[in-house]
Amino acid sequence: MAKEKKENRAANIIAKRGIFYQAFSIYKEIGGFYDYGPIGLRIKRNVENAWRRLYVDRLGSLEIDSTTLLPEIVFKASGHLATFTDPITKCMRCGRSYRADKLLESFYAERGDAESMAAVSGMSQQEMQRRIKEHGIRCEKCGGEFSQIERFNLMFKTGIGSVGEEVGYLRPETAQGAYLDFKPLSKMYGISIPVGIAQIGRVYRNEISPRQQLIRMREFNQMELQFFFDPGLELEEFAGMNVKELTGRSISFLASGEKEPIEASIEYLLKNGKVPNAAFGMILNLACRFIESLGFSSKQYRFREIEEHERAHYAKAAFDLEVKTSYGYIEIGGTHYRTDYDLSAHAKMSGEDLSIMSNGKKVLPHVVEASFGIDRILLALLDTSVQEGLERGWEWLDLNERVAPYLYGIFPLQKDEKLVSKAMELSTLLIEKEVPSYYAETGSIGKRYARADEIGVPKCITIDYQTLEDDTVTIRDRNTMKQVRKNIGELV
Ligand code: AMP
Repeated sequence: MAKEKKENRAANIIAKRGIFYQAFSIYKEIGGFYDYGPIGLRIKRNVENAWRRLYVDRLGSLEIDSTTLLPEIVFKASGHLATFTDPITKCMRCGRSYRADKLLESFYAERGDAESMAAVSGMSQQEMQRRIKEHGIRCEKCGGEFSQIERFNLMFKTGIGSVGEEVGYLRPETAQGAYLDFKPLSKMYGISIPVGIAQIGRVYRNEISPRQQLIRMREFNQMELQFFFDPGLELEEFAGMNVKELTGRSISFLASGEKEPIEASIEYLLKNGKVPNAAFGMILNLACRFIESLGFSSKQYRFREIEEHERAHYAKAAFDLEVKTSYGYIEIGGTHYRTDYDLSAHAKMSGEDLSIMSNGKKVLPHVVEASFGIDRILLALLDTSVQEGLERGWEWLDLNERVAPYLYGIFPLQKDEKLVSKAMELSTLLIEKEVPSYYAETGSIGKRYARADEIGVPKCITIDYQTLEDDTVTIRDRNTMKQVRKNIGELV
């Protein structure tokens, strides 16, 4: 990543409209914790609902809501206790902690040395230590020297019970809930494979250096699908979709070690071994569908192949999904081939048989995971949709209707009792018909248009004196600023 920009392009709107903001700020600020205000929350929910429509409804997946606090044994089995760690080093003068790999990456980024920067993720602890010393990298706060690098586990630990007799951890990913629930669900719901288990929820990671607002948080939101399938069968069809057709799609693909992405069909990547199996190929196609449904164009994102030494401990193959923003490319999601790693590990630790019967034989399914970070998607949406609006005099968000916080703003032209009551009546009608809309009467009509544009509301409806006579209203389009007159009956 080039030298980091600190501000999102939509920073003014984010701050002015309270889309999200620092949590518990009346006390003290601790990095990595943010609250969503009402507008941010509506956008976030819309992103979740778009995901749900595809990954749950369209695929016929089982959506669950599993606990965020789990006993230690779960993470002992999953490998997170041993391997979900970052290399940290502390300033020996002021005590500030840093991620050793990030220190080196920004050092090389500043020098424009992309090759060394890319090599950092594959470096051993000793190599990082040697380089920090060799380059004379010091604490950015006080100039102090750094301590020996240590491994730091990112999970938040807590005690369950009145004296904390049971050690527990806040989950660092939603996925474990799906693995733990797989067998009970298969009994209760009589599921057969292939099948998806989906979950939206909070996760927690004690990041050493949280930064860039929603990009590296300590409490954040994920949407994850675990797709369970029989590894012995080639996936040809799923949920009425032809997998060959899905893998015929071209994607922008950045192979590990390469500087430029290529356009290649998923089918081609499958043939030359970059994509491990047809299920993974299908999941890549769905990721494209999802991300485009939010309004990103295929030119704005790419898939990056993650090399073995960079991959999470459970992944046999991994592609990051990166979106181009003013921060550079940011990873908003990932596709991981988790094999039977997690189910095997939990079967072994618990002593339970987690295989199920499929086509008359016992199968321990393999899993392809599609994982998205909601907060990063939201940040990327704001960053890429903001328009300077020089011609109109205010910045505005070009959000599509699926993610915009409201579809309509409804305004009486003036605070005249008759106009107010007519506008309120329309507002109530639309809300009752489940059309996301809001009512506003304060400020000039121009101000109200500006405030609607700022949060990306696609259309504003104005009730004027003519409305009282013939039931027509003006509808102003956010993008063109053009107004047309329509009958209220055409709106609902
Ligand atoms: P991972 O399990 O690390 O592959 O993360 C899955 C997704 O969660 C990533 O693609 C990001 O979108 C998101 N994510 C990971 N870590 C953070 C974080 N610290 N803050 C916000 N989002 C994150």
